Amino acid sequence: MRKNVIAGNWKMNKLLGEAVQFVEDTKAKVPSHDSVESIVCAPFPYLPTLVEKTKGTDLKVAAQNMHFEESGAFTGEVSPSMLSDIGVTYVVLGHSERREMFAETDETVNKKTHAAFAHNLIPIVCVGETLEERETEKTMEVVEAQVKAALAGLSEEQVNQTIIAYEPIWAIGTGKTATSEQANEVCTHIRKVVADAVSADAGEAVRIQYGGSVKPANVDELLAQSDIDGALVGGASLEADSFLQLVEAGA
Ligand code: PGA
Repeated sequence: MRKNVIAGNWKMNKLLGEAVQFVEDTKAKVPSHDSVESIVCAPFPYLPTLVEKTKGTDLKVAAQNMHFEESGAFTGEVSPSMLSDIGVTYVVLGHSERREMFAETDETVNKKTHAAFAHNLIPIVCVGETLEERETEKTMEVVEAQVKAALAGLSEEQVNQTIIAYEPIWAIGTGKTATSEQANEVCTHIRKVVADAVSADAGEAVRIQYGGSVKPANVDELLAQSDIDGALVGGASLEADSFLQLVEAGA
């Protein structure tokens, strides 16, 4: 049985006081880590404070990005060792907003995935097709290429720990969710791609989240699908109540 992972991706939202208030309101209420992994993906400046505030609780903290290099002349970047040093445990990699606006490529995502494991960070690797790719029936091909590229060169053990987030770009922040069948169809394909590229066991073990306009009203149906093991949630993760409903659904 795979454990669900519910991750709230705050993106570039909240001021420090609001971020702290959110974790104070949720950290004692999230279900046990044994039943669901509950994660908030917060902006860099808040990470040390949130890690401190959530210590010993079932609420975990993720970064929304990082660089793959260890240190050096990379003005404005944050390294994997900086994240692990302050106690961050997960990192979102290759979100479509970073691929579209900040020149993230399959190659940089792969380097970052390796860097994450080198520093004991669990990567949440985002993949997904554009509306045009869906309409021209390229979804499976596009997602397959992204998954293979992101995981290239990882050991089976590392793939087993990887979280893949399938996020159709046309469903992000648009209120347009993929139907649960559409979402599951792609997640099933991703699992097969991992099984073929790595091993049958890795295909079974890898957790695959769906993301794109997930909210309390549609999360149950999505999580009931055979190959969906959680959700990466933007808009509906900003309010504590709504986030708690989502993690409860995953438990
Ligand atoms: P959304 O964002 O839930 O607001 O659609 C999801 C995401 O981008 O991870």
